[in-house]
Amino acid sequence: MKKKISLLLIAAFAMFAADAAVPHPIVLPDIDGYKTLKGDMHIHTVFSDGTVWPTTRVEEAVMEGLDVIAITDHVDTRLQKYTNKGLFRCDRNESYRIAAAAGKAADVLVIHGGEISRGMPPGHWNALFIDDNDAIAAAAEKYDDNHVKAMRAGLKEARRQGAFTVWNHPHWERQAQNETRWYDEHTHLYDEGYMHGIEIYNGFCGYSPEAHRWAIDHGCALISGTDTHKPLFLNIDYANGMHRPVTLIFAKERTLEGVREALDSRRTAVLADEHVYGSEELIGELFSALFEVSDIKYSEKKVTFKVVNRSSVPLFLSKAPGSEQVVFPRDMIVRPFECMTMTIYGLDNKKPIGLDSFDVNFYVNNFLTEPDKPLVHSIHFAFP
Ligand code: ZN
Repeated sequence: MKKKISLLLIAAFAMFAADAAVPHPIVLPDIDGYKTLKGDMHIHTVFSDGTVWPTTRVEEAVMEGLDVIAITDHVDTRLQKYTNKGLFRCDRNESYRIAAAAGKAADVLVIHGGEISRGMPPGHWNALFIDDNDAIAAAAEKYDDNHVKAMRAGLKEARRQGAFTVWNHPHWERQAQNETRWYDEHTHLYDEGYMHGIEIYNGFCGYSPEAHRWAIDHGCALISGTDTHKPLFLNIDYANGMHRPVTLIFAKERTLEGVREALDSRRTAVLADEHVYGSEELIGELFSALFEVSDIKYSEKKVTFKVVNRSSVPLFLSKAPGSEQVVFPRDMIVRPFECMTMTIYGLDNKKPIGLDSFDVNFYVNNFLTEPDKPLVHSIHFAFP
């Protein structure tokens, strides 16, 4: 048995994580018709208020096995102070250019982005797939005394460039001191078509159930980003299996065009802190792809089968309604890559099960289709 498990482990690593250099890479299967790409949509460098050179951001992505990163330096802080002093002679797109060149060599997709940072409302917004941060900064700067007008102008210019725009960290405590609030201005920006995505998980302030709810209700893509300013190893303990939060992008192809099409089609989910957040359809398919059932053996008094978790995400399962006529563990954890045998009994394990067919239904408590609403997975059994 042990040998079988280690062979499985080797197979899983070889299939999905050939490039990652961390000891415990993120492993997730593709789903039907789409590649499961791992991305970080919110990253800073030394070209705004980060402490890291852009090439290091690409190296970090390679080390962790990410497919795509967005360089989103603030368009309106620090950089211009340095350039004014003559320390950097460059425009606001230089961090992207440096990272993109490194990404090309390392096979990491790099999105040209920028973060427009203003007071609340409307807060901070990322513009992804842009081509000139200088123009965005210039548009916003005309209204430096007015958060609302500055953001509207910045987003308008970003849209002119074809941007995908994201409301970042609505729950950041420095802008949401006691509650996470949707202001009238957010309704305006949504109505104007600027809210394509919402960051429901941010590396600084974690998961926001409010943001998750708003993203669902407004048909926005679920986005996560580290918002990392420092070297990632200072915050993430890779040796012990920790990872940065990632946006899962279900793309037709592993290209920037593929990523953009998936974002526009809202085919994203978030993996963070051993939780997966996404629509029932997408994370249901992901779960079905990673949770393998085989070797079903029927006998009068019990049914046994094998389950394998083909991912690096632990699965926290509990019995759900609809399976009252059969007995199986009411709470269960299937660890990453674990293979286990499950046994189903009738209500009295001394008697035959006595059913032609039955369903094993369970909640996947760390796969959330809405705030506080776990995915339900069902396995149907029919006696031959
Ligand atoms: Zn940021």
